[in-house]
Amino acid sequence: MDCELKISILSDNLASGNCEAEHGLSFLVEAEGRLLFDTGASDLFLRNAEKMGLDLAAVDTVVLSHGHYDHGNGLQWVRGKRIVMHPGVFAQRISGRSGRDISMAVNRQTLEAQNTIVATREPFRLTDKMTFLGEIARVVPFEAECSTPFHFADGTPDPVADDSALAVETSRGLFVVSGCAHSGICNIVEQARRATGVGKVFGVIGGFHLTAIDSRLEQTVSYLKNVGAEIVMPSHCTGDEAIAEFRRHFKGELMRTGEVFEF
Ligand SMILES: [Zn+2]
Ligand SMILES: [Zn+2]
Repeated sequence: MDCELKISILSDNLASGNCEAEHGLSFLVEAEGRLLFDTGASDLFLRNAEKMGLDLAAVDTVVLSHGHYDHGNGLQWVRGKRIVMHPGVFAQRISGRSGRDISMAVNRQTLEAQNTIVATREPFRLTDKMTFLGEIARVVPFEAECSTPFHFADGTPDPVADDSALAVETSRGLFVVSGCAHSGICNIVEQARRATGVGKVFGVIGGFHLTAIDSRLEQTVSYLKNVGAEIVMPSHCTGDEAIAEFRRHFKGELMRTGEVFEF
């Protein structure tokens, strides 16, 4: 590999080339090691990986960002891997907007019978340069009150405490990979800086869960500028207008399934 970090988009909301898209997220992340970050909503990540000529059999670790179907349903097709996650990912959860069950279609028992599960709330070092961030502390003032439209099966509010992310250390600073960022993208970046001890952020990629052009979005842009972010590539659950706004302020290409980005 003649770059420090390579991210292949196996599943995301937009399609390109001969790869299909879905409302889901799955990235192959290659740095000094390689891992699968999320598995999308179906077996699409496997079919796209094959079309892209990527051998997922050579990957031994899967990081699950959080327990929603669009990130974890693909786990049904995962065998013989180490799967790293927050222990709360298996909860049954409902979207308040649609009343729809948005839990993953896999339970812990089945997954554990075929894989090794590492369930932790603490940051967990995956390789020399890659860290699973554990439960994200909600400390950034404009994100501290991050409320979600979700609830558990018993009706209590679901703050998606299991929402985590991945930090990759590069010579140009941290590269943060998020799933849906229900815990707040700035809270995630803060946790990455704390967990690794690296203050400078180089890039942020993944779902940001921001849609409106509002003060929170502007504060997010300022925050990311302050921590030195150069590349910002939101996708998946980020709205088109919000994506355009980030592209006005930062470098980073529009992301589509089937594409490979080298940093
Ligand atoms: Zn989600
Ligand atoms: Zn999502």
